[in-house]
Amino acid sequence: MYDLLIKNGKIIDGTGVDAFVADVGIVGDTIAAVGDLDGEQAVRTIDAEGKVVTPGFIDPHSHNDLNMLIWPENEGNVMQGVTTAISGNCGFSPAPVEDVYVFSAWEYRLCYEAEPSVYTEVQFFFDLEKMKEQFKKVYDFDLDYKTLPEYFEKATRSGFSVNYYPFVGHNNIRTAVMGRDCLRNATAEELEKMKLIMHECMKAGARGLSTGLDYPPGCYATTEEIIELAKVAKEYGGSYITHFRSSKVFITGDPTSEPAEGIKEAIRIGRDAGIKVHLSHMIPTKNSSKGELTVEDKLLAATEAKDLIDEAVRDGVEITYDVIPNTVVGGHIVPTFAAVLKPWLLIAGSVEQAVKNLSIPEYADVVKKEMKAGKWPFTGFPGRPTPEASYCLIRHKDESMQGRTVKEIMAEKGWECFYQAVIDIFLADPYARMKYLAGFDEIWLKEILDHPLAMPSSDTFSYNSDSNIGLDPPLEKLPSVNNFCYAIRYLLNYGKERLEDSIYHMTGLPAKSFGIDDRGKIAAGCKADVVVLDYDRLATNEDYVEPRRFPDGVEYVIINGVITGDHKKHTGAKAGSVLAPRKA
Ligand SMILES: [Zn+2]
Repeated sequence: MYDLLIKNGKIIDGTGVDAFVADVGIVGDTIAAVGDLDGEQAVRTIDAEGKVVTPGFIDPHSHNDLNMLIWPENEGNVMQGVTTAISGNCGFSPAPVEDVYVFSAWEYRLCYEAEPSVYTEVQFFFDLEKMKEQFKKVYDFDLDYKTLPEYFEKATRSGFSVNYYPFVGHNNIRTAVMGRDCLRNATAEELEKMKLIMHECMKAGARGLSTGLDYPPGCYATTEEIIELAKVAKEYGGSYITHFRSSKVFITGDPTSEPAEGIKEAIRIGRDAGIKVHLSHMIPTKNSSKGELTVEDKLLAATEAKDLIDEAVRDGVEITYDVIPNTVVGGHIVPTFAAVLKPWLLIAGSVEQAVKNLSIPEYADVVKKEMKAGKWPFTGFPGRPTPEASYCLIRHKDESMQGRTVKEIMAEKGWECFYQAVIDIFLADPYARMKYLAGFDEIWLKEILDHPLAMPSSDTFSYNSDSNIGLDPPLEKLPSVNNFCYAIRYLLNYGKERLEDSIYHMTGLPAKSFGIDDRGKIAAGCKADVVVLDYDRLATNEDYVEPRRFPDGVEYVIINGVITGDHKKHTGAKAGSVLAPRKA
């Protein structure tokens, strides 16, 4: 007698072997049998004839951290078939947290409420007490833990849908020890304290160390500091996951970007600490500070990055990497073009008033000067080429601008000044919509994903279809489409020749590289994380104005034996587990 029986599906088991037709019998949270289970009884049976049955997808780069308890249904993950989120990435984890709370790039609404700012997107550090108040006020959430074990306990008690595989964030450890005085190298004594916390976290079941070396305070750490902490993670069998260093912009203001050096640093950490390395959300590893990269530059960058990785493997370093399978980043989108002018919109108080103000040439000149001086990062850091190629209009009253980047519009109209172009495009349609391009061209994506150690990732947070994270429109921020469809986007746009291979890169490969022995496979004895796809009907439904849409064709998503996604509806089940085995 099974609790759940999936009949006659085309099984793609996550190991890369050829698909086969079979039944899957589930008892409790475990796959009990795979084979011909004709005549067997079950509490519930799913007829999967003509459907593809795969292991649940493992997202190797997730930011399902504290937000997974605010939106515990984790709808964005579930509805695209993600059943395990590798979390605590880019140096940010929900804990430890001491007197200073470190912004981890989803708390826009909270942070703005706590410390409103005009010319800064956000501050990085907040008093914990102030943030606690905001968490309660904005999301009715009690931030009532400090350590990682306490967070695990809270998460387990309150429940959530998608399995949570926790890395401990270097930014958290650093801030817990150094407080706000963390924008410098650590002393020997501080490093010893950090190591103690690292020991505690690893004993509690953390899976390793994560760094975000482009953000404060992680960017202030020396390679040696990270090696020392990585050695502690290694003692407990953990691994090292990194948003590798690409520039020193936060430390010196110098935007010169040298991402290949960051990969080399990560490899050195892997070698010196004897630890497995995973590189997060790969970027084109070419210096882009002297101008926009050409397609040839990007292809060369993909080859160079893959060569660095192959060389590391030959040298005995265990290494893997993930790639966001889209031309936009994972975290968020800012759909309204007016947001490019955020400071001046805030000052004006309304779109209408901003239109009036910016129509006055003397005032427009003041704004242009401020933009040029780098007062607002959205219009470029000083010394860095202006980001005209990044803003792509997707809806504008002037149809000739639709589907064009600001750079293309400028070329077509013969405009020379980027800052004036921003103002003119805004004035012509204050409610125009845009897409922010990350510089990941299709051609680079195809090339960088074509590697035996590459896997697709979302760079996602845990959001539901009604999650609200930014200011009010037109300055809203919305979850990125990747939060809702990266997995399906990968399958449809970048998949391998054999579907079995694509599925392996989303299931078996991440399971193997993160040491999750009992997931990522459809096999007796494995945990019952299973997805049933109507493959011919798969569609991402991606929408860059309203990204909170679910893909088509994901029929069932089963997590730890419990049906959680059922034809684009969340069943309310919160069967996710903290995948954190305690270590002595
Ligand atoms: Zn990152």
